Amino acid sequence: MKAVYLERPEDIYIKEIDEPLCPAGYARVRVRAVGICGSDISAYKGTSPMCTYPRIIGHEVVGDIVEVNSSSSQLKVGDRVILEPYIYCGKCYPCLNGRTNSCENLKVLGVHIDGGMTEYISHPVHLIHKLPEKLSDEEWVMVEPLSIAMHALHRLKVKEGEHIAIFGGGQIGNLAAQSALIIGAIPILIDLLDERLGKAREVGIENVLNPQKDNIMEKIKEITGGRMAECVVEATGALSAIRTTLDVVACTGRIAFVGWPSQEISLPTALITRKELDIYGSRNSVGEFPGAIDFISTGRVDVKPVISKVVSLEEIPEYVRILAEEPGRFLKVIGKL
Ligand SMILES: [Zn+2]
Ligand SMILES: [Zn+2]
Repeated sequence: MKAVYLERPEDIYIKEIDEPLCPAGYARVRVRAVGICGSDISAYKGTSPMCTYPRIIGHEVVGDIVEVNSSSSQLKVGDRVILEPYIYCGKCYPCLNGRTNSCENLKVLGVHIDGGMTEYISHPVHLIHKLPEKLSDEEWVMVEPLSIAMHALHRLKVKEGEHIAIFGGGQIGNLAAQSALIIGAIPILIDLLDERLGKAREVGIENVLNPQKDNIMEKIKEITGGRMAECVVEATGALSAIRTTLDVVACTGRIAFVGWPSQEISLPTALITRKELDIYGSRNSVGEFPGAIDFISTGRVDVKPVISKVVSLEEIPEYVRILAEEPGRFLKVIGKL
């Protein structure tokens, strides 16, 4: 079968490999659609702190069950499913506290172990979610990025009526803003690209700011009635955005860091003390897949504007290169098999 094979950074191609076996406790899935994610691009560029090589990339995987090797699983051959791609040990300190997304021995598909940009993949049955049939495979791919966005909001315990400043109008930022609307919070989306701000407006985000044109401190002061943002999500990993979160957050506000910066950054921690801020890391997601499936199937989150392009499996290496060189060109590119 064919797979998108990243031999080493910047060396990506389609390779013929053997079909996977289906060990006990696993199901084998015929892949139907797979998203290209920011972490696939950092794996390609060699900037991922966790990826090892060679690697079959891809962790946003939708497909059909073709074999189930488990007597306890409800899954059946022919079910359309999405894989929860974070395989955890269940024994370490974070796992014992239910925070399996931050497992000390975490193996994420396409990062630590081979992923889903391939025709077949085997995956533990307890990390496979059955999908309602009414949407397209491409739309279902967005469950994984939506789960990341929802996890950030849950880390912050965002409440109705609160303002949430979101740095980054890419897929995670856009989906975080849509999720904020569902709980009655007021999202303020910040991005340097007007096209992304336009996409946000399309899905009902009224407050969009471009730091190259808007004085974001003044605007956020205006929108929040002088208080500044009770909650902030950083979804770019850009050093200047990370630094600015401390300025736009309200006194006693909360910040979640979702983006992965490529290097260390120094921050004025006196601001954290003076404002008595709560700062959260937000990594992957835990327990968010059922909610994300529900938001998408009921249309409360509109994923269509976020999907920029659908390509074939064979075209994925080319689009990984394009996305690495021009990160602003597409929001989401999805391979369809
Ligand atoms: Zn992803
Ligand atoms: Zn663990």
